Amino acid sequence: MEERDFFDEMSEQKKHTLVCPHCSQPGEYELSWLVRRKKQQLPRGADERDKARFQKAQSYMVRRDDLVGCKNIRCRKRFDVAGIQSVAYIQETATGPVEDREARIRAAFGRRSQG
Ligand SMILES: [Zn+2]
Repeated sequence: MEERDFFDEMSEQKKHTLVCPHCSQPGEYELSWLVRRKKQQLPRGADERDKARFQKAQSYMVRRDDLVGCKNIRCRKRFDVAGIQSVAYIQETATGPVEDREARIRAAFGRRSQG
C-alpha cells in the first residue's frame, strides 16, 4: 500500500504576508499548497504493516509555490518564499464528544485501580 492511499489529496490557496527582499515591502500573497488529509478509515486491503503506518500517519501539506512576483509595481521582481516552511503538519481536531472520551478513559483505567 502506498502512502497516498492513506490520504485525501486536494489543493488549497492560503494567504501569507511576505516581505520582498528587493524593495522590503510587505504584501499579502496567496500560495498554493497540496493538502493531504488523513482518511477517516484505513483503506481496504491493508495488512498489519499498513495498519501500523496508517496509525502513525498525520495530515500534512506541502507548499507548491517557491517563487512569487512582488506586488510593488515599481519593483515587480520575483523572490523566493524561503521564510515559509515547505511542509506543515495539520492539527487534527479531537474526534467524538468529550463525555465519550472520558467514559472510555474511565473504562480503561477505572477498573484497574479497584484492584
Ligand atoms: Zn519588491
